[in-house]
Amino acid sequence: MAGSFKKTVAILISLLIAFSAAAIQSSAFDEEENSRQRAELKEENSEIKEELSETNKAIKDKENEAKKLQQQISELSEKIKNSNQKIKNLNDRIVEKQKEIDEKLKAIEDRLDYLRKRLRAIYMQGDTSSLEIILGAKDFSDFVDKAEMMQSISDYDNKLINSLQSKMKTISTEQAKLKADKKTVEEEKEALQKNLKKINTLNEQNTELIKELNTKKSTLEQKIENNKNRQNELLKALQAYNKELAQKAKESAGESGDVYSDETEYVVEPTDGYVWPCPGHTYLTSTFDEWRGANNHGALDIADGSIYGAKVVACYEGTVFSTCTTCEHDYGKYSSCGCGGGYGNYVMIDHGGGKISIYGHLSGVTVTPGQTVVGGQLIGYVGSTGYSTGPHLHFETQYNGVRYDPLSEY
Ligand SMILES: [Zn+2]
Ligand SMILES: [Zn+2]
Repeated sequence: MAGSFKKTVAILISLLIAFSAAAIQSSAFDEEENSRQRAELKEENSEIKEELSETNKAIKDKENEAKKLQQQISELSEKIKNSNQKIKNLNDRIVEKQKEIDEKLKAIEDRLDYLRKRLRAIYMQGDTSSLEIILGAKDFSDFVDKAEMMQSISDYDNKLINSLQSKMKTISTEQAKLKADKKTVEEEKEALQKNLKKINTLNEQNTELIKELNTKKSTLEQKIENNKNRQNELLKALQAYNKELAQKAKESAGESGDVYSDETEYVVEPTDGYVWPCPGHTYLTSTFDEWRGANNHGALDIADGSIYGAKVVACYEGTVFSTCTTCEHDYGKYSSCGCGGGYGNYVMIDHGGGKISIYGHLSGVTVTPGQTVVGGQLIGYVGSTGYSTGPHLHFETQYNGVRYDPLSEY
């Protein structure tokens, strides 16, 4: 009975161990996969950024278009306003002409009344037939025709009526011209209104497009944010893994080894480009092109009063392929102690694609060859080891073995 119990416990324990092992196995960190995913995300991010910049450009274009359309709208509205004013003026003048015509008609009417009276007087004198003809006239021209037939109308009346008739004709012609002008302006106005309607439609479509582009813009910005977060997660996983490795190494090797214990740090923000190797210190005491007797310096020297012991970080992700940690001559000197080929304590990182970076004269190094680093990760501290007259960071970049200006990466 007791033996059977022991057996059961033993089985349970072995199962538990197997399960734990499986759990450890399944959660095992795949450094290659992590790096592959981050590269993928970076690629994706640069594509999104490209699309975003295109979208921003399109928004700018459409906004410029909108400005032009709104300018056209205000010009057309102004023209329509002018047309309305013109039409109003023409209307006033047409009404004026009508008034003049009415006045002339009234004058003619008055003259005719006068003539009728005179004719009546003539009739009283005995000329019956003429009166009947004249009083039977249908209208004025009929009257004139008939009156002309008769010699009983005086030249004076004849002239007066002719003059009135001619003036009225002139005014009518003027009025007709005004009416024609009005019609032209009205047609112009109609064309302007049609044009305005067209441009208003274009403007509305344009506004809609800008709205759509802005929506797209926010979507892309959200995608960039998500991408950043995913990169961050991967960086954190890598960080945790590296810490674990460092811990294990420490446990197996004891406290001996590097001058500085591992103190891995990562930038929280994943970057697409190069990170400055000495955060907070940007003063250059020597640039790439500085002439040093027989050749160019070919690197940057970063230094200031408070630089000693400052953190040095990897400028870009890569693999540490060489370090020197043995120089103990960490002070200013005017000749080389010869350590690290003059670089003193250094770190060299291979970024792939033929690019490497070198960090020289360090007082301490926190990484080891073969270790993967990401941009912004702590790799050492500023010092004055090797051929160095005072604390500074010698930062050098090479492409296919040829030095190039590190500033070209920023
Ligand atoms: Zn040395
Ligand atoms: Zn230098």
